Amino acid sequence: MSKILPHPPSIWSSSANPAQIFPPLAGDLRTDAVIVGGGFTGLSAAWHLAKAGVGCAVIEAHDIGWGASGRNGGMAVLRYKTSWAGLARRHGEDEARHLHGLLLSALDVLEGIVSELGIDCGFSRCGHITAANGKSALAMLQADIEWLAAAGDRAPRMLTAAETAELTGTGCYLGGYLDPRAAGIHPLNYARGLAAGLAGRGVALHSGTPAVAIQEDAQGVSVATPGGTVRAGQLLIATNAYTELFGLGTDLHRRIVPVSTSVITTAPLPVATLRQLLPEGHLVSDTRHLLNYFRIAPGNRLMFGGRGSLTGKESRSVYSGLERKLVEAFPSLADVPVDHRWSGKVAVTLDDFPHVSRLGQRVSFAMGYGGRGVVLTGLLGRMLSLLAMGETVRAGPMHAAPFAPIPFHGLRIPAMKAVAGYYRLLDALRI
Ligand SMILES: Cc1cc2nc3c(=O)[nH]c(=O)nc-3n(C[C@H](O)[C@H](O)[C@H](O)COP(=O)(O)OP(=O)(O)OC[C@H]3O[C@@H](n4cnc5c(N)ncnc54)[C@H](O)[C@@H]3O)c2cc1C
Repeated sequence: MSKILPHPPSIWSSSANPAQIFPPLAGDLRTDAVIVGGGFTGLSAAWHLAKAGVGCAVIEAHDIGWGASGRNGGMAVLRYKTSWAGLARRHGEDEARHLHGLLLSALDVLEGIVSELGIDCGFSRCGHITAANGKSALAMLQADIEWLAAAGDRAPRMLTAAETAELTGTGCYLGGYLDPRAAGIHPLNYARGLAAGLAGRGVALHSGTPAVAIQEDAQGVSVATPGGTVRAGQLLIATNAYTELFGLGTDLHRRIVPVSTSVITTAPLPVATLRQLLPEGHLVSDTRHLLNYFRIAPGNRLMFGGRGSLTGKESRSVYSGLERKLVEAFPSLADVPVDHRWSGKVAVTLDDFPHVSRLGQRVSFAMGYGGRGVVLTGLLGRMLSLLAMGETVRAGPMHAAPFAPIPFHGLRIPAMKAVAGYYRLLDALRI
């Protein structure tokens, strides 16, 4: 049996609802569709397959939600990595409007799953602020508001520097962009609740069950695991930044770059302090190239995240760097201890979009969300299920754009170090 890794010591794992036990696969299994990866993408795909009456099984190498899904910031942000106006320039007005509609529908998918299964994950449309660190970022956000208004979406609005300071508890921003529709969740509770809902509908879930080899033939696909083989008509790969954990014999791991991001939380704060920092409970991320994000976390804590180690290895210096950034933004927290520190991996792609597509007649995948998976995984999981059912999807560049292996993928760590140095310089210059 392979080693099942525990969840990282996150605020989410220490405050989560109890997990249902899904035993490792022991023996062979036959089903219509097998899903590799028990995170938001794989669970959403299973949910949509089950609703369509397709038999399916989810196999997860560790515990359900062990990957990025159970340890992220829980921020369902209604923006892609690229600005709206930038998307319109790059892909044309029609495609940008289609992408805008997709993102709004993605949050509806997430909310729909939560409400249909009654998942206790604190889903709340508490709103998200994109806080501008420099003048060019402020102009970019203003251009976005204008583009959205022309597209008929007047929900997001600009915040002045004073309003941003009032709502984020820090005076380090020049202004902000508030989308009141964005939502926060407890990510591990969402993953656990969705898994329990799937089990209740007859989906077979097996944790501690890594797929170690796949084989496709005219009759179907076989997925080998240490405890048995799953035989299915369709294979759905939902392993995102953890695709390289096991060599499945595909080139998917070379189409993304796994990048570490790290998070800390303060010890519990007095309610009055928290009310001064985030009086309306907004989620916040800034516009730096090496961005920081923060929100309220369970137990009246402040959660603060940012860039992790470039090699992906745990290091004290990453957490002390984050603590410095936290205190720079919130000097009043200088003496408050930090009580949780953890890291995880996001999957970065060259075009900053996730991709949902096929590898062959029987194999499809969805991955590459960067820091935008909380909102998009529900939708792309649904699209993944549609591909497995032989249907077509319309996801603009997320489906139609090329998604090839990245040249010189083996040199990604020195390349990331060079890029991180360049970004640090741009951030210092506030460009
Ligand atoms: C610290 C952190 C903070 C983040 N914050 C945010 C945020 O606030 N907002 C946002 O939108 N996004 C955020 N993200 C990104 C978001 O979490 C991801 O995009 C999303 O969770 C991806 O979900 P997934 O199901 O595709 O992949 P994952 O949740 O990573 O699941 C993949 C799973 O596949 C399993 N696996 C891999 N190989 C195999 C195999 N061979 N066999 C079986 N199982 C396998 C892994 O064990 C893993 O559990 C954050 C990510 C991190 C790490």
